[in-house]
Amino acid sequence: MKKLPSELMLKLKNLPTSPGVYLFKNSKGKFIYIGKAKNLRNRVRTYFQSSHDHSPRILHMVRQVVDLELMLTDTEMEALILEANLVHEHKPRYNVALKDDKHFPYVKVTTQEPFPKILIVRKVDKDGATYFGPYTNARGMRKTVSFLTHLFKIRTCNYIIPPVKGRKLQVCLDYHIKRCGGPCENLQSQEDYKEGIDSVLMVLSGRSKKLIDQLTQKMKSASDNMDYEEAAESRDRIEALQSVIFKQKVDVGELIDQDIIALARDGNYAVAIVMQIREGILIGRQDFQLSADVDIKDDIVLQNFLVQYYNNQPNLPEELYLPYTFPDVILFESWLKTQKGKKIKIITPQIGQKVRLVELAFRNARLLIDELLIQKQKQSERTSKMVIALKEALQLKRSPRTMVCFDISNTGETDSVGSCVFFENGQPKKKEYRHFKIKTVTGQDDFKMMQEIVSRYFNRRIEEKLELPDLIVVDGGKGQLSSTVAELKKLNLDDQPVIGLAKKLEEVFIPSISDPIVIKKTSPALMLLKRIRDEAHRFAITYNRKVRSKRTIKSALDEIKGIGPAKRQLLLNTFGSVERIKQLNADELTKLKGITKELADLILRSLT
Ligand code: SF4
Repeated sequence: MKKLPSELMLKLKNLPTSPGVYLFKNSKGKFIYIGKAKNLRNRVRTYFQSSHDHSPRILHMVRQVVDLELMLTDTEMEALILEANLVHEHKPRYNVALKDDKHFPYVKVTTQEPFPKILIVRKVDKDGATYFGPYTNARGMRKTVSFLTHLFKIRTCNYIIPPVKGRKLQVCLDYHIKRCGGPCENLQSQEDYKEGIDSVLMVLSGRSKKLIDQLTQKMKSASDNMDYEEAAESRDRIEALQSVIFKQKVDVGELIDQDIIALARDGNYAVAIVMQIREGILIGRQDFQLSADVDIKDDIVLQNFLVQYYNNQPNLPEELYLPYTFPDVILFESWLKTQKGKKIKIITPQIGQKVRLVELAFRNARLLIDELLIQKQKQSERTSKMVIALKEALQLKRSPRTMVCFDISNTGETDSVGSCVFFENGQPKKKEYRHFKIKTVTGQDDFKMMQEIVSRYFNRRIEEKLELPDLIVVDGGKGQLSSTVAELKKLNLDDQPVIGLAKKLEEVFIPSISDPIVIKKTSPALMLLKRIRDEAHRFAITYNRKVRSKRTIKSALDEIKGIGPAKRQLLLNTFGSVERIKQLNADELTKLKGITKELADLILRSLT
């Protein structure tokens, strides 16, 4: 085992024996592994004991650890959840993590307000609203939201509807086309509106059957009272709901809420499936891609998935069916109980219909993983075709397996920046992307700026003894290309293949030939060049905007007398942006320490 840094040694010597979470960091300060322990001292030390029989993955990880952070908890259960939250946030390289989970949408019903709306959101807040999801099938979810909004006449406006007395709002078109009852103008009572929202909540939580019973009852009494309009409305709603439920029906013979889970793996790929059954009806199937190294056992992958999934799941079932159990099952079961307020049974069925359901979920997961692998295969075949085509089109000695593309973005005299994106086998490798603030060039001299960033990029790579790319692409024509070639010469990199790709006509320039070479517009070679050039362009512009907005915020507040760096930071940390500060009143600003009434007035005057 390599010699550990003295600071890490000291931390290892003084590890506490309490439960908690440990976070291993590499030399770049990045968290590479996060784990939980009942006894931190015992657990963490095992990683650094050579006598311990570690897997190659753990050995590889431990070799990179230079520092360690600890977070103590009162119980192991707290540690379990803290670990899941931290893995979710940092996505460490050696943990099992859900891929792209932050992109999955939720449905939010704003039940904390008198006339709730249905929204599609990306995260669950503790704001008193009711959430459903996450939905991995965003399209299906949008269709459901639209269906429910129309069926139960839920408002779609952004009004904050005040109490009846102060209400001075006006109905919109939705009211006239009978898509909203018009609560904004007091044309619908809160009680009546609530009935629609309660129906939406019932459907989203899988209680559609119960809702149909209620509507049937309502239809009958409306018809008995000769209120045929109301009876017809209930009838239409019943029919609409039945048509949807019919499609979802699975016959599980029980009216219990159940989640059926399965996991399929292939190499480093894993897919988990959750089938949500509510009152015997399959209301949703969610699928998640996971990153899990091949030597992590299936039960550990399952455990990690379950903790991360249920930690962000607002609707818990009564029973959980799994293909197999996992090490922390008892801890997990206790935690679920604290979340739901009653026990959730965790079952690994051995016989009967539940086995078939778990198998069904597994077959779905297997199918998805097969599709994923086929897609990857196709993508890599397409990519290698592009790389080979580019080699031929440019008559390069070797395939441009690794490529970089440089671009400059400037809007005026200040904030000039440069970008360098990196492609490997025709695919972006974002870890290798770099951006630069132009330091030595003033004015709008694109050629000199290109020289500066090329020089900084290659000097650094040479210094760090990193491999040089097989091909350099610069965004631009002859001018940009010659400046780059001149700079490469200074760095003794004359042999480095380099080309320029000019905009509009997509002309490709190569050094020492004055006319551009012609590559067919439909050729995979040109497609790859355009792709890397566009990516460099996007990356440069994004960085330019960031630099510009930072400067604008800084200068707007800095110019106000009485606002130093500390107060500026306090204002921005509290309110987020200058735009938000502009919308406040002086009283709100004076709530901050050090902001007097006079200063608050001055801030608002200066920003308007
Ligand atoms: S009618 Fe009124 S409450 Fe309904 S959507 Fe329009 S503005 Fe909103």
